[in-house]
Amino acid sequence: MPLNVPGLLVPIQLLWFPRVILPSLSVKDIRQLDFVALKNAGFRGAVFDKDNCLTIPHEDKLIPELQEAWTECRKVFGKGNVIVVSNSAGTQLDGGGIQAESVSYHLKVPVLNHNSFKPSYSCIQTIRHYFASLPNPIPDEQLVIVGDRLFTDMVVANRMRTWKGWRHLLETWKQKEQANTALGNGPLGVWTTGVWKKESMGMRWGEAKLLELVTKWSRPPLEEPKWDASRFTRQTPLPSKSPEKDRLSSMLRMLGFR
Ligand SMILES: [Mg+2]
Repeated sequence: MPLNVPGLLVPIQLLWFPRVILPSLSVKDIRQLDFVALKNAGFRGAVFDKDNCLTIPHEDKLIPELQEAWTECRKVFGKGNVIVVSNSAGTQLDGGGIQAESVSYHLKVPVLNHNSFKPSYSCIQTIRHYFASLPNPIPDEQLVIVGDRLFTDMVVANRMRTWKGWRHLLETWKQKEQANTALGNGPLGVWTTGVWKKESMGMRWGEAKLLELVTKWSRPPLEEPKWDASRFTRQTPLPSKSPEKDRLSSMLRMLGFR
C-alpha cells in the first residue's frame, strides 16, 4: 500500500498549528447527528469518510444499524450534496474505480475520485471543485465533514477552514482587516469515535492522546469558531448494537467530548 505522505506530514504541521486535529464536535456514530438541525443552521452539504464511519473496513455495504440515519441524511441534504471521500475507494488503490462504483451503488451517493490521499490539499481542492460544480454550489463554510480519524478527516476539515489557497491569501493580505474574518465558520468537523471493526488501534490511541494534549495546552485563536455541539446532536440513547467500546470513548468523556 502506498504511503499516505500528506497524513505523515500532519505531525510536522502540529508543531505550529496543533489545533489542526481538533474536531468541532464528536459523536459515537452518525445516529447521534441531528441532520435537520445541521441543515437549519445553514449546512447544505456533507462529506463522509467510508471505513469505520459508514461501512466496515474493506466492505462496500452500509452498516445496517446506520440505515435510518443515513437515509435521513441523504433526504435532508438532497441528491448530490452528500458524498463519500475515502482513502480506499476512489483512490489510486481502487483500480478502475470498481470499488468506488460498488460503494456508490450501495450507499446511494457519489464517491469522489481523487488522486491524492486525505488530508492533502490536492484532495481538498478536489472536494471544493465537486461542490463548486453543483447546480447550487456549496461553499466550504456550508459543509459538514464526518469521519473517524483525526489525522485525516478532521485535518481535512481544519485545513479547509484555514487555507483557501494562495490567491485568496494574497487578496486577504492586501485587505488586512478582512483576513481575520476570512477564515469563516466551517466546515464543521464531526469525529465519529465508535469503532465498528478494530483497525489501526495504536494510531487511534496516539491520536486520542494527542487530542488530550492539544485540548489541554493550546489556546483557541480568536477566529476559531465555537460550536455548541448540543445543537447538532441527539441525546437519545443509541439502539442496542453500537460500535465496539474502546478506550477512546472513556478518554473522550474525560475530555468533555461526547
Ligand atoms: Mg475511516
